[in-house]
Amino acid sequence: MAKLRFDALNQANNRPTVKVELPGKISEYFGQDVFDLKKMQALLSPDIFKKVRQAIDEGLKIDMETADAIASAAKSWAMSKGATHFTHWFQPLTGTTAEKHDTFFDHIIGLEKFKGNELVQQEPDASSFPSGGIRSTFEARGYTAWDPSSPIFVYGVTLCIPTVFVSYTGEALDNKAPLLKAVEAVDRAATKVCQLFDRKVTRVKPSLGCEQEYFVVDKSLYNSRPDLVMAGRTVFGHNPARGQQLDDHYFGSIPPRIYDFMKDFEIELLKLGIPVSTRHNEVAPSQFEVAPAFEEINVATDHNQLLMDVMNKVAERHDLRVMFHEKPFAGLNGNGKHNNWSLMTNTGVNLFQPSSSARDNLVFLTFLVNTIKAVYDHADLLRASIASAGNDHRLGANEAPPAIMSVFIGSQLTSVLDELEKNGNIKVEKGDNMYMKLGIDKIPPIIIDNTDRNRTSPFAFTGNKFEFRAVGGSANIAAPMTILNLIVAEQLTQFYSEVQKEMNKGAERKIGVVNVLRKYIKDSKKIRFEGDGYSEIWVKEAEKRGLSNIRDTPRALDAYLSEKSRRIFKRHKVLNDVELDARNEINWEAYIMKIQIESRVMGDLVLNHIIPTAIAYQNRLINNANGLKSLNINNDEILVNIRKITDYIETLNKGIHDMTEERKRANKIEDNRERAIAYCDDVKGKYFEKIRYAVDKLELLVDDEDWPLVKYREMLFLR
Ligand code: ADP
Ligand code: MG
Repeated sequence: MAKLRFDALNQANNRPTVKVELPGKISEYFGQDVFDLKKMQALLSPDIFKKVRQAIDEGLKIDMETADAIASAAKSWAMSKGATHFTHWFQPLTGTTAEKHDTFFDHIIGLEKFKGNELVQQEPDASSFPSGGIRSTFEARGYTAWDPSSPIFVYGVTLCIPTVFVSYTGEALDNKAPLLKAVEAVDRAATKVCQLFDRKVTRVKPSLGCEQEYFVVDKSLYNSRPDLVMAGRTVFGHNPARGQQLDDHYFGSIPPRIYDFMKDFEIELLKLGIPVSTRHNEVAPSQFEVAPAFEEINVATDHNQLLMDVMNKVAERHDLRVMFHEKPFAGLNGNGKHNNWSLMTNTGVNLFQPSSSARDNLVFLTFLVNTIKAVYDHADLLRASIASAGNDHRLGANEAPPAIMSVFIGSQLTSVLDELEKNGNIKVEKGDNMYMKLGIDKIPPIIIDNTDRNRTSPFAFTGNKFEFRAVGGSANIAAPMTILNLIVAEQLTQFYSEVQKEMNKGAERKIGVVNVLRKYIKDSKKIRFEGDGYSEIWVKEAEKRGLSNIRDTPRALDAYLSEKSRRIFKRHKVLNDVELDARNEINWEAYIMKIQIESRVMGDLVLNHIIPTAIAYQNRLINNANGLKSLNINNDEILVNIRKITDYIETLNKGIHDMTEERKRANKIEDNRERAIAYCDDVKGKYFEKIRYAVDKLELLVDDEDWPLVKYREMLFLR
């Protein structure tokens, strides 16, 4: 086994460089694989093109004649790029993307064809996608339906059509259908609120810029670790002497091999119209980040899914493996996705942008306060939206926000809200920064500090947007973005009706707005936290404030099913009871599966690799001790080590045995939630750390030449 490790190290150290040629200026190839509006306009008649635009901008339905014309143009364009097949590209509840490729070629007519009905709707053989029992309950099949708001693209030799996946009885079977509905809900609610200030606003769309963190390791090293291959994270491995203590990796120079990989995948992403704009090292060794510029949330979500896929594929060319897992390495940073979210009006205003216009600043405060209130009222639902087995390892660990939801807004805005709460008045502060004037004469301008940053907050205001940082690195962001938009939609709906009530009581509109905001600021104060979110002090303080800190996925998921949640899902037509129940069944099952795999991998590694290695080394020590003894040389130190190794081996034998028994017990539990809790508390909770501790200690004791698993320091300091 140690031979495998050294072979892998040898391969990793002797990789030839992969040359990456830049295809020219980005402006020349950006979006070349996307059937975007410009290409449609060139290929479609003006009438047809107008209908497409309406479908995209206003969500209008496309008739079959129009669909035929679009399909035909898309086919010609795709074939000119070498495409032979088409697929409905969708996001089933497995968290990845799925596709079933159909050829354009029709052998009966002997020609390539692609019809409108094939563009609009398709029936994938969906029986193997999770439905949480929906399909069997209703005996309904699922179909995919074109989502014209996300552009069609060519990927490899396939024309990909972004779609939603629903059952014939209308239940959503994917991640995207609810997102689109939540986006509609927030549009409806926010537009109404905007119209209190500006009648010209007729649409509000959420924007999203999603920063993606990832680790990169050499392919051979990755493949030599069964835990990485099977579970996506290392279940064992002692921390290297030099981890991230020095913080010297952050914004340091990018290693050449990784740099080639980055250039390569960025070219692919740019061709697909994904506007990647930044790249840099992250805090942990071998960890990096890529961030595209923000886009409409629906497109940004598709793009994040596509980005992960492209990165996986391109990594192969470089003999590398990318890891998006929330916690691939213990003791180091995990991977997150920072979801930068804002709301944009059709009049081009970012509703979270403070400005020098008095009216706009009351609008700004309205959306700021309502978002804070939404997070306060539905913190548990937001927590549930980021729950996964992987994220449980990350939340509350090194350099990751805790599982407590809180909002950071910076000291300037804190004093604005404090003033507004106390007396409806706002202090002036001097400085060179931007002035923020409020919409009411009484309130003088205040200064906005855009640089106020707090990296430890799970939900932070960063100048002109909120950044939701607790989202896991491998997650499909559609789920958390559905919840965020839904709870803000709910909050804005309530706000609107409370302002109406104020006005009915005779309050002037702006005064009515301020009155309601003041009440909200007071009510939601507890969710605001400006200090160090990673500290123990905050955990205690949050408890005092009565904020929840739900540490595990099985219990976090309960928030989806509370009466309060069900009501808002229904009111905004995002998910019905059947869909909610089905989703939780799927999520609990996914959780069980993940922990089960991790537990089995631990068992295999310990019994087949770690214990045999430890015994072999122990025997060498015993021989040595006997030899020393026969020469009458003191051998106390060696005896101590032999005893330690003996103890760890015993801990491991017993730990693996008991954990397996615990798994068997858990497997007999029928209810998914109860089984998930058993896996969480009894399998993972009682054994994972104990077993890992013994293995990691043995790693330090056993001769390096014998150790079977590639070590952290060998995986993480790739140059
Ligand atoms: P950071 O310091 O966290 O890296 P940046 O200012 O570089 O923040 O932006 C990070 C992400 O936020 C990028 O994807 C960027 O496009 C996105 N972003 C910027 N403005 C907005 C906005 N108004 N709405 C949504 N995302 C935005
Ligand atoms: Mg960020």
